Amino acid sequence: VKELIGKRVLVLGMAKSGVASALLLARLGAEVVINDSKSRAEQPQAGELEAAGIQVVCGGHPLTVLDGCSLLVKNPGIPYTNIVVKEAEARGIPIWTEIELAYLISEAEMVAITGSNGKTTTTTLVKEMLEHSGRKPLIAGNIGTVASEVAQKAKAEHVIVLEVSSFQLMGTNAFQPKVAVWLNIFDAHLDYHGTREDYIAAKARIAANMGPADYLVYNADDPTVVQAIARIGATLVPFSRINVVEDGAYVKDGTIFFKDEPILALADAVLPGAHNVENMLAATAAARLAGATVEQIRHVLSHFPGVKHRLQYVGSWEGRQFYNDSKATNILATKAALSGFAKPVVLIAGGLDRGNDFDELLASLKYVKAVVAYGETKSKLLALAAKANVQAVTAERVQDATEKAVALSQPGDVVLLSPACASWDQYRSFEERGDEFLDYVNTIIKPS
Ligand code: ADP
Repeated sequence: VKELIGKRVLVLGMAKSGVASALLLARLGAEVVINDSKSRAEQPQAGELEAAGIQVVCGGHPLTVLDGCSLLVKNPGIPYTNIVVKEAEARGIPIWTEIELAYLISEAEMVAITGSNGKTTTTTLVKEMLEHSGRKPLIAGNIGTVASEVAQKAKAEHVIVLEVSSFQLMGTNAFQPKVAVWLNIFDAHLDYHGTREDYIAAKARIAANMGPADYLVYNADDPTVVQAIARIGATLVPFSRINVVEDGAYVKDGTIFFKDEPILALADAVLPGAHNVENMLAATAAARLAGATVEQIRHVLSHFPGVKHRLQYVGSWEGRQFYNDSKATNILATKAALSGFAKPVVLIAGGLDRGNDFDELLASLKYVKAVVAYGETKSKLLALAAKANVQAVTAERVQDATEKAVALSQPGDVVLLSPACASWDQYRSFEERGDEFLDYVNTIIKPS
């Protein structure tokens, strides 16, 4: 960090993480320029930045902003095809993202979690497990709080639980978490990374600087992950849903184990679905390695209802269990949700019509006893239900759809909102859609 004193640094992008980085760099004694293509009128924080001695250049990307700079700190969302980024590469200027800064200034240990899917769930589980065990976790990164802001507050007794995306990891240099988790890798974000190899290489950076005293928890069931970590210097800790991996986290006879410690019978875990078994195994290993107790890990796995809107367990009423999976904005996510239940499900689905059909869902309707369809896609979903010989009705919005779903359900059933569509035909966001479900379900569960 001392090396930054007196150095000229360009911060590219004036969103939350850029503003935080610029202010931090100025405080560390760097000479800071911040640049964004949006006009000054759209930058409410320009004045505050200038007051901190930062030069603000808005409304375009003049290449002169790089003159004299020995470092570029880039917002993770800005692509490497951006002209300033390309020019920095050509001039041999190192390019970091803000998590590198967070790492450099942090007095606290870090547990970092990446993967294509399951990051938020796993990050939240790890945080809960550590908190219940009396460690002091601070959650940061992709999950909403800017990592470098959290790192400034963190003391040696804290542990920062960091959700990191491949975009953020690309801009790391010395970043070295104490414990890292690599959940899985699917073909995502190829538009940004160019090739699958580049995307995998970006994710692998999570462990690039780790040594034998650090732990990399990885998905032993994902061949791409297994291949990518072959030359990593960390102590490798596998997790597997399928095989008994005695040096890691696994399922044996229906029970989650970490090494030789039995943790919890899967039947007693709250989070449903095979994908959540993976998240629970990964979180168990990471939290145990970062100091959580078996007892508290067991407590969290048997009580944690899930992250809001992500196959979140809402509660039960008259023998029905309610789940809110409003985040399921595509077919794949709804398939994942449905795979989590081996009992009758009344499915509430529908939303923005992207022009696709829903045939891909057919094979997942095995336990679905009724569909309540709403929104732009309702007639397509009715057609799907007809193909599967499943009862179906339509509704206008989530609220009346939920009322109808309750009427169609019996004790022992699951009532699941998992729309398989984006929400924008009727709602501003999947959060607003999920809240409508929660509001209604909560009036049934807890009558006023
Ligand atoms: P992220 O933060 O990586 O987007 P979340 O924990 O928010 O992940 O989960 C988002 C969605 O991804 C879930 O609703 C589920 O459909 C799917 N998902 C979660 N965990 C996994 C996993 N381990 N493997 C595959 N899909 C998953």
